[in-house]
Amino acid sequence: MSDNVERCSICGEELTKFGNRQLKDGVMCRNCVKLASSWLSEEDYRNRTVEEMKKHLKYREENLEKLAKFKKDRCVEGKYSLYIDDEKKEFVLSKRKDMKKENPDIIPLDAVTEMSVTEEPYKEGEGVDIFFEAVLENEELNTVRLRVNEFPGMTKDDEEYPKVCDTALAYLDALADKEVFEEVEE
Ligand SMILES: [Zn+2]
Repeated sequence: MSDNVERCSICGEELTKFGNRQLKDGVMCRNCVKLASSWLSEEDYRNRTVEEMKKHLKYREENLEKLAKFKKDRCVEGKYSLYIDDEKKEFVLSKRKDMKKENPDIIPLDAVTEMSVTEEPYKEGEGVDIFFEAVLENEELNTVRLRVNEFPGMTKDDEEYPKVCDTALAYLDALADKEVFEEVEE
């Protein structure tokens, strides 16, 4: 192409001002980013090549097809609901009941190598957030990290607080025997 605009290294569309991600050897546009896993961190993007990202998007298409056969045998409800397919030994963490719209990654249970629940200060004097994180040994995903509370900055008097703690611990229980609970804030 002879024009001077910057284009997405994946789909070739013109880049918009916001929402693009820098890759190791290119740039990914906002629309391609929407198709990628929501568990990818900024670092994951920066460390991946255009070719690796194309492969990742192919994996995401296959994931969507596999979702049709995913069975919700067990569930921990929350902002992100955890669903486990006991037979296939796989799980998803999904924000929507209609998983087709979100295409949450199907992750094998045995890909989880470490899990933690941490309480972190939101902003100075403005409450706390509770995060759940799972470290994965998986070709496409390195970690799953999510804020368990609905809105940032709960106070401990909040009605939501004990529920969120229970949900976070229920994730740990459902996904493994090994449990780690650490409080970051004193
Ligand atoms: Zn694109």
